[in-house]
Amino acid sequence: MCVFCQIIKGEIPSYKVYENDKVYAFLDIKPVRPGHVLVIPKNHSANIEEAEAEDLKALAEGVKEVGKILKEKFPCPAYNIILNNGGEAGQEVSHIHFHLIPRFENDGLKLFPEKEEYKEGEAEEIANKLTS
Ligand code: AMP
Ligand code: ZN
Repeated sequence: MCVFCQIIKGEIPSYKVYENDKVYAFLDIKPVRPGHVLVIPKNHSANIEEAEAEDLKALAEGVKEVGKILKEKFPCPAYNIILNNGGEAGQEVSHIHFHLIPRFENDGLKLFPEKEEYKEGEAEEIANKLTS
């Protein structure tokens, strides 16, 4: 059984932030910043492609609830929502989860690298490939 399923069952301790019948939210043990929360569906699925639509809906609603909790009670004015989908994207735990990371004005955290420019014709080529 995966580590997050063990957390849901209470076999591994966690700092619960929010729970309903379909989702569970808890503090990330190694936060990017204090107040970093993970929101997971209670039904195990490895990633967004595997997850049932019903669980994704519940997950999105859970993210919204936890976001409200962070804003009201942490409190923070904003937060990033991140989903690492697949190992190459940095996913370490194979149970789908959203990261909510509290943000403050000028907090110095850089979650996105510098952006690139498309080469001539490249955007069109990719858009064509993705829609063919
Ligand atoms: P990811 O790299 O997107 O798969 O994120 C997995 C996250 O789970 C990491 O940020 C870890 O710090 C966190 N994590 C792993 N084990 C635990 C645990 N037992 N309790 C809380 N967070 C955990
Ligand atoms: Zn699991």
